[in-house]
Amino acid sequence: MASDKIVDIAIVGAGPGGMACAIEAKLAGIENIIVFDKAPHHNDMIHKFYKKGKRVDRDWMGIKFEFVGNVRFEECSKEDYIQQMDDLLASHGVLDKFVYNHEIMRVNKGEDGLFEIVYGNEVADEHKVKARNVILSVGRMGKPNKPRYKFPKEIRDRLNFNLSKVENGERVMVVGGGDTAGEYAYGLVELEGMEDCVVTLNYRKAEITRMNPINTEMTLKYLNNGQLINKLGVDIESVEPSENGKIKANFTDGTSAEYDRAVYALGGTTPKDILVNSGIQTGEWDVPVFDEKTMETNVAGLYTIGDVVTDQGSIALAFNHASFVLNDIAAKNK
Ligand SMILES: Cc1cc2nc3c(=O)[nH]c(=O)nc-3n(C[C@H](O)[C@H](O)[C@H](O)COP(=O)(O)OP(=O)(O)OC[C@H]3O[C@@H](n4cnc5c(N)ncnc54)[C@H](O)[C@@H]3O)c2cc1C
Repeated sequence: MASDKIVDIAIVGAGPGGMACAIEAKLAGIENIIVFDKAPHHNDMIHKFYKKGKRVDRDWMGIKFEFVGNVRFEECSKEDYIQQMDDLLASHGVLDKFVYNHEIMRVNKGEDGLFEIVYGNEVADEHKVKARNVILSVGRMGKPNKPRYKFPKEIRDRLNFNLSKVENGERVMVVGGGDTAGEYAYGLVELEGMEDCVVTLNYRKAEITRMNPINTEMTLKYLNNGQLINKLGVDIESVEPSENGKIKANFTDGTSAEYDRAVYALGGTTPKDILVNSGIQTGEWDVPVFDEKTMETNVAGLYTIGDVVTDQGSIALAFNHASFVLNDIAAKNK
């Protein structure tokens, strides 16, 4: 894929929401799209979490749904549902738009107004695509890896898996040695409005070996100039409430330190992280802020649909969300 590849819509997630977007886009005459999924096929959640032969209900959990868009399904077994979706994607000629086995960590809107999506662990040009619009339809399955020690409930609010709760002026410890940890750590140092945070990077190994070249360079730059406090080469043994009600982290070398917040980036991110990482505002209970008629977020051109934005999601609801988004994008394209 060339570095200047620009698509009209990039869709992240090929569950019911994402695949319905691909079909709605085609029907709206928008063919220049790409769909990413971290799994090796579409509808992975259904493959994985529905038991064999399960009936796929339209009115899931007793909530009645009318289909408002073009994508629908007939109630049937799990296996037949997947076949129906395969046939639907094939008959609309969109199967070749799907790129599997790639987890997208974030989308960044550049000064040119286009979103840049880097996929895979590569930073080479062939792993980048730019998009005029992005739809995040990442569901809500998946959970972050947790450390072995317990999170005491008095400080649980301070022990996080992304940067969404960090406030300016806090002493923040980022824990981990991979790309996400690096990007959280130096990202926080560089983040406008967070200039007064004091950021520590903790990783049990003394060397950074798991980050891509850009993240390694950026992280080392800030570790070397002191803007990132270096706590590499030592593990955390436990965390407990400090005398001030903050976090007291006890390290395996016998030292301890106090932090306002710890942000764990140990892999296995939650789907919601991509929303936060992409600059989408969240409100109470971490719920993303979006326009319910169009599903557009606070970032113009960035939409989010399906389970990741609903408490009580269903296939029909994800299909309907897809039609709201495509109506909006198609109207703006006129
Ligand atoms: C056991 C069970 C039974 C259910 N039964 C029914 C039913 O009978 N009828 C019904 O209507 N609903 C049912 N539901 C709910 C329904 O499955 C969901 O509401 C629906 O799948 C939501 O679709 P979605 O596209 O929002 O998310 P998902 O189906 O979760 O799809 C999200 C996709 O995004 C991909 N993804 C996530 N993060 C990334 C990333 N960072 N990069 C790339 N790809 C990513 C995932 O691999 C996945 O393929 C059931 C749910 C469960 C758990």
